Amino acid sequence: MEIIRSIREYRGHIGSIRSNRPGVSIGFVPTMGYLHEGHLSLIDRARRENDLVVVSLFVNPKQFAQNEDFDSYPRDENKDIELCRMRQVDILFIPGEPEMYEPSHLTVVHVKSITEIMCGGFRPGHFDGVTTVVGKLFHIVQPNRAYFGQKDGQQTCVIQRMTRDLNFDIEIIVCPTVREPNGLAMSSRNAYLSPEGREKAAAIYRSLQEADRSFRKGESNVDRLIRIVHRELSRVPGIKIQYIECRNTISLKEISVIRHPALLAVAVFLESVRLIDNVILTPKESESS
Ligand code: AMP
Repeated sequence: MEIIRSIREYRGHIGSIRSNRPGVSIGFVPTMGYLHEGHLSLIDRARRENDLVVVSLFVNPKQFAQNEDFDSYPRDENKDIELCRMRQVDILFIPGEPEMYEPSHLTVVHVKSITEIMCGGFRPGHFDGVTTVVGKLFHIVQPNRAYFGQKDGQQTCVIQRMTRDLNFDIEIIVCPTVREPNGLAMSSRNAYLSPEGREKAAAIYRSLQEADRSFRKGESNVDRLIRIVHRELSRVPGIKIQYIECRNTISLKEISVIRHPALLAVAVFLESVRLIDNVILTPKESESS
């Protein structure tokens, strides 16, 4: 595995690989590090589907607001390097902050409207940071395919929109959410939770599953499904709901009745940690069509 820290070196390296192996396919997994099984599932899938696997580790300051956890975000570069080696990553790209953002950096990639709701509504500017860094990484890494987790449901929509709108010739592959045995979606931020917090946080997925069960039994009214999630979450002392929303999976438009695949998503605070999760509710008719 090559560990590369500069854009120039990456370009030189990938250029020589491409000239020696024309048609080589590159699968890319962008991450902020502190890798867990969720990240590793993306890496494994990229490994199966591509000749070369590139992983980036970069805690992107531009997607954190002033009051957020950039400084305390968990980091363990040596462990991440080891995990990537074990999963047969070919290139681990670890750019420092000055490498990604020159002091004179002025450009922002902004996806309109779908970034202003849900997580974006509560974290103004967050998705500008995400699309700016992912856009830059796409240009640098030049992958054929890029892998993202369904856990960050709105992020996958935003990245897909940006990829189409800016004509990146990259296939975006969304991978299922990997969970702890109790159902809690794996996240680097789970490291902030106490053992009791981790147990309590299992209620997030439980509440989504409860709504999913009701949906499968025929409930398609969005208000009623949201109420189910709300009721389940409210039972747990310490969970503070930020939002529960159900929207079209692609357009992220509001819906009142589920007729097409819908993203049922929640964001909560628990022990001051912001946790998100979602499920996709797919009506039977659109499963078969
Ligand atoms: P992050 O390091 O949190 O920016 O995440 C990097 C990538 O891993 C993103 O595409 C995430 O959606 C994905 N990811 C994070 N947690 C999970 C999980 N539990 N299951 C699947 N993918 C995940």
